[in-house]
Amino acid sequence: MQFYNTFSKSKEVFEPVNPPNVTFYVCGPTIYDYFHIGNARSFIMADILRRYLEFKGYHVKYVMNLTDVDDRIIKKSIDEKKPSGEISNFYAEAFFEDIKSLKVKPATVYPKATQHIDDMIKLIQELEDKEIAYNVDGNVFYNVSKFNDYGKLSGKNLEELSAGARVEINEIKKNPLDFALWKKAKEGEPSWNSPWGKGRPGWHIECSAMSSKHLGDTIDIHAGGNDLIFPHHENEIAQSEGAHNHKFVKYWIHFGFLNINEEKMSKSLGNFLTAREILKKYTAESIRLFFAQTYYGGPLNFSFDLLKAAEKGSEKIFNLAAIIETEIKKDNNVGISPEFDIKYYYDEFEKVMDDDLNTPQAVAIIFDFIRNANKVIADYDNINVSFFHDLKKFLKDTAQSILGILDFEKLGLKESSGLDDKLIEILLSLRIKLKKEKNFFLADQIRDDLNKLGIVLKDTKEGTTYKIR
Ligand code: AMP
Ligand code: ZN
Repeated sequence: MQFYNTFSKSKEVFEPVNPPNVTFYVCGPTIYDYFHIGNARSFIMADILRRYLEFKGYHVKYVMNLTDVDDRIIKKSIDEKKPSGEISNFYAEAFFEDIKSLKVKPATVYPKATQHIDDMIKLIQELEDKEIAYNVDGNVFYNVSKFNDYGKLSGKNLEELSAGARVEINEIKKNPLDFALWKKAKEGEPSWNSPWGKGRPGWHIECSAMSSKHLGDTIDIHAGGNDLIFPHHENEIAQSEGAHNHKFVKYWIHFGFLNINEEKMSKSLGNFLTAREILKKYTAESIRLFFAQTYYGGPLNFSFDLLKAAEKGSEKIFNLAAIIETEIKKDNNVGISPEFDIKYYYDEFEKVMDDDLNTPQAVAIIFDFIRNANKVIADYDNINVSFFHDLKKFLKDTAQSILGILDFEKLGLKESSGLDDKLIEILLSLRIKLKKEKNFFLADQIRDDLNKLGIVLKDTKEGTTYKIR
């Protein structure tokens, strides 16, 4: 298996530190509002990567932090005249509801920043002891000049960065690139006691402290959207490696932006659609298919046309699943076993997923599988149920368990009454009566009308059978 590592800027073979365990950290949401469909892209692609690692036999410890102390939360709490804890608790709940609706598997741990203030203080102290951090009147900064590798992840050089940063010179910092580890308390803001006086942590230190607390000092995979490469992840490396002197992350994986009209979807630009509102009209499976059809690392432009196309694709997957379930219920164990090379599809699927999680190719393989399975079903009449069990296993392992673009359980709910089958049987016996009475005109009309609904009748010597196309 290999992945594109942002750090080395090349594809690298995946070798976790301590196989079969994999430690996986994803930068989660700042819980001050509902998340948008752009955030959902990052959450879903990380989820697919995690599910695929599990399919490959790894034991994944998956940690996603929730940022519950931040300028944006504070601003909202002032605007709405509510304590910031009330704002973050409300949107944390909304976050859990929405990722559940999107069929994102729950993380092993969801650490919240405010529950780890002591860990952050300890880490800042370590940096201060090593003279990498300095305190200016209750504000503690990271001294970027003390970390040689600064800029390596983002590929930026220090002079370039300094020139850019000088625009917003902060008097109290030694160097314009230095960033805040601890911010001195301001009136009306949440604050905690610390060796530097009352204050709150900076955003970057949260992830350094929480990742090492839950996953150890070297983690296998660290992921997030492209916007986090600089400065967030660059700063995380500087903090964690500065304090601990060994490699912080083996594989850095970043997700491309979901754009809208070729511009990054974001709260600050106001060009966003919440996952919650999209979920009112589209299923999780359609949304996930929409994302899986594009390589995770590249940009993707949002449009309702593309989402509708994904919805059509999703119907095709569910249609085959429905046929499979109907046939499994019939449990025909005497019919023929048509030739169908399931192993080929497993191999192809793994081959493309192993190559930097090529989900667009994986989806294409699933559609090829569906096309060929439908053809076999249309060509043969008396198929042994074992064939349908094989089809189901493949779709469950790949489309359902890894990509999350199918849900057999959802079908079970819809079909539990068996009413469709019973209605079709009534029409078939009516048609036999009409034929006996030589009313071929009406008998044909029943056949044609059912055909329009995708129900194909086949007259044989033994009677009439039907298939749902
Ligand atoms: P935030 O709540 O802004 O910290 O973002 C949560 C996650 O969503 C982070 O991993 C971001 O990098 C990611 N993200 C934000 N905007 C987009 C976007 N337009 N497309 C893809 N990922 C995004
Ligand atoms: Zn982070």
